Amino acid sequence: MRRLPIYFLIDVSESMVGDPINQVQDGIATIIQELKTDPQALETVYISIIVFAGEAKTIVPLQDIISFYPPKFPIGSGTSLSKGLGHLMHDLRKNLVKTTEHQKGDWKPIVFLFTDGVPTDDSTSAIKEWNNNWSKTANLVAISLGDGADISLLKNLTVNILKLENTDSSGYREFFKWVTDSIKTSSESVESNQSGFELAKLDSDNISNIDLNKQEQATYVDDNFVVLSGMCQNTKSTYLMKYKKVIKQSNFGGIELGTKSYRLNGAFQVGESYNELSDGKSIQKTVNTAELVGAPTCPCCGNQIAFAVCQCNQIHCIGDEKVTTCPNCGNKGQYEAGSGGFDVNRTQG
Ligand SMILES: [Zn+2]
Ligand SMILES: [Zn+2]
Repeated sequence: MRRLPIYFLIDVSESMVGDPINQVQDGIATIIQELKTDPQALETVYISIIVFAGEAKTIVPLQDIISFYPPKFPIGSGTSLSKGLGHLMHDLRKNLVKTTEHQKGDWKPIVFLFTDGVPTDDSTSAIKEWNNNWSKTANLVAISLGDGADISLLKNLTVNILKLENTDSSGYREFFKWVTDSIKTSSESVESNQSGFELAKLDSDNISNIDLNKQEQATYVDDNFVVLSGMCQNTKSTYLMKYKKVIKQSNFGGIELGTKSYRLNGAFQVGESYNELSDGKSIQKTVNTAELVGAPTCPCCGNQIAFAVCQCNQIHCIGDEKVTTCPNCGNKGQYEAGSGGFDVNRTQG
């Protein structure tokens, strides 16, 4: 049986500490669990995990799924993509079985590169070496975990670039399901002697394909304020709720900590000119309501709560009526006070 080698090349720099690395760790564990139930994958898929921060290291050498035990991920300082790539290429050179007259070698390896940031060293020569020696021998998929990754740099490495927009646990869960599905479809494609590289369909809003032909637009947001726009249920006019950043300093066991929150600055009716003077760019930036302190009344009609969010994402006001109609989409619903935070779209500020 020919092997289908899957490499995970994972950024474990400081910015990954805490939640992101735990999500990746759990994600890898679920991938393996899932693949163990897939007969085709069990036969063909071999997995290796290489991590990189300032240095790179193999934490799981290439092995079949049955003997795979999910590792604990380390964290390091720095983000040396060049060392990560260098280590990967070294491993490929050492471990790949080549096709010869006498034997069928491995299928084209698939490399999933996860990164959340910008390299802290020059990766030009490593990228050049990849393109010269490996880009035809292996398939590489780069995934930006959140907004921080340097897409223009990843573009030099591969045409398959994706972005995980929503980096909470549900976002990661969907993402790792997509990776699992991609590995499964690839192993099926191997069986029918196809390319052995079939990424699963993206049916999630959390993961998006980066359009390489499109110039990325910088999304400038003034982080000192969060501004949310709402629509009055009674007058249908637009209002803005403005929150100002507050850093609360505290001393915890001798360590200075700053906790960021946004405090209500006011709610304002803005009238027709708002739309006229807005460029209509949607910035896809959200803020979690748990970070927001204070909720205003509606500045248009005086309704008690200006902060109800419809399924259509429109924020609007509600009073004490039992059933509320969303002024944007017409959806009728009953609102209950939410517990915990949730994400709402913010304006450019
Ligand atoms: Zn209102
Ligand atoms: Zn609505």
